[in-house]
Amino acid sequence: MFENLSDKLQRSFKHLRGQGTISDENIGEALQEIRLALLESDVNLTVVDELVSHIRAKAMGTQVTTALSPSEQIVKIVHDELVNLLGKDTAKFKTASQPPSVILMAGLQGSGKTTTSGKLGQWLKKSGHRPMLVSVDVYRPAARQQLAIVAKSIGANIYEGDLKGETANSDLVLRLAREARREAANFGCDILIVDTAGRNQIDSTLMDEMAQLKKLLNPSEILFVADAMTGQDAVKSAKSFHDLLALTGVVLTKMDGDARGGAALSIRHVTGAPIKFLGTGEKPDAFEAFHPDRIVSRIMG
Ligand code: GDP
Repeated sequence: MFENLSDKLQRSFKHLRGQGTISDENIGEALQEIRLALLESDVNLTVVDELVSHIRAKAMGTQVTTALSPSEQIVKIVHDELVNLLGKDTAKFKTASQPPSVILMAGLQGSGKTTTSGKLGQWLKKSGHRPMLVSVDVYRPAARQQLAIVAKSIGANIYEGDLKGETANSDLVLRLAREARREAANFGCDILIVDTAGRNQIDSTLMDEMAQLKKLLNPSEILFVADAMTGQDAVKSAKSFHDLLALTGVVLTKMDGDARGGAALSIRHVTGAPIKFLGTGEKPDAFEAFHPDRIVSRIMG
């Protein structure tokens, strides 16, 4: 049967009862368990090594108190280190001094960008905002239609523009974005959520377009949408997007699947950008503000 990290640690520390302190010799086995469990949870190697060395430093010389068993103490140290790495507070949204504030959604195709744009729109509506949505994916009419359906289902404004007879290229993307911002201002919408074109992989056209959109719109938030199920691939693309755009936050989708959540730790570590939300299903309300404790519990069991 699957044994979670907390149980494994409890087991490997049983023999420590009655010893005065946690030492280099008696912690070895537990650190190995921690290392494996983190790797199995999709945390990347660099992050694992750094975490394990922090945990070792903290645990060494810790007095084995009577209140907590050595294993409980280690579990607590590991838990605190993971929470620390993820950042303690659920991040807040930045807004522009002059509305509409722009939220630029970035990510690969299939990561859940369009679904998340709708979820975010609904979340913002519930928090008293008046969002407008726009899809600047001029290359895929189906993607634009999908966002229109989502916007309708949550009762949010959408800017669709008139693309008839136009050639799908970056100029059109920028024109649509510019028009949408103007429309949002005219409509009294305080937030414009910009769903962007996704590709199966990162290419220079996509990246160039994202950079131009950033320059044009000066977004208050650039959110990277990552599919938690894709593990290390999500970490790699997060890094590429971050290097180009300086992400302000991450939304981790498909957390209702069996992803262990380690990608959250790695993405946080390689980008430094806070995880702001989790997607937990296909419906617009399957969306929650990020709480580090929940991911850590998922990793530790
Ligand atoms: P995009 O290409 O990045 O815009 O991705 P979509 O928004 O079209 O999502 C791709 C697929 O993932 C769709 O079938 C969505 O219903 C699904 N999806 C998105 N977010 C979640 C989530 O949090 N949980 C689950 N189970 N499915 C999701």
